[in-house]
Amino acid sequence: APYRVVDVHELLDSTLVMLSGKIGQRIQVVKDYDRTLPPVPAYPAELNQVWTNLVDNAVFAMNGDGGGGTLTVRTARDGDRALVEFRDTGPGVPADIRGRIFDPFFTTKPVGEGTGLGLDISWRIVVNKHHGSLQVESVPGDTRFQVLLPLTAPGP
Ligand code: ADP
Ligand code: MG
Repeated sequence: APYRVVDVHELLDSTLVMLSGKIGQRIQVVKDYDRTLPPVPAYPAELNQVWTNLVDNAVFAMNGDGGGGTLTVRTARDGDRALVEFRDTGPGVPADIRGRIFDPFFTTKPVGEGTGLGLDISWRIVVNKHHGSLQVESVPGDTRFQVLLPLTAPGP
């Protein structure tokens, strides 16, 4: 897919529509968008892959015992970068595995349910391909995966 200037909100909305079946009725989606955020130079198909994986992980995390929760998708401007944050109310990432979740093939999901490649691929797309950053903050009930993308990039 070509490198171009994209509206992150448009990308996020299309991903959320695509995943609405998987998100289901028990998870509430809250959009907290900063509409003044300028468009971002990016590879849109790759960024959709990142959103898809982060939403998928959040939904899985919240569908443990009983299921349900709130997924908040927030955008904000952070200096010369755009912030896209996925926040879930699931049990969180245990401290002892936090250093490994971005490793290829690392998964805590049952065999057949996770490849352990989602965060590895997301890392490579955000960091290597977009010169951005991907970080996680997590306590039980409040887990945030934060993607930061430069608003002015050196080009493809
Ligand atoms: P997979 O989804 O196939 O397990 P990922 O690379 O996407 O692989 O995620 C790796 C692991 O990181 C997950 O198995 C899970 O243990 C942890 N993880 C990712 N996102 C979350 C989240 N939102 N809440 C709790 N744990 C998470
Ligand atoms: Mg995943």
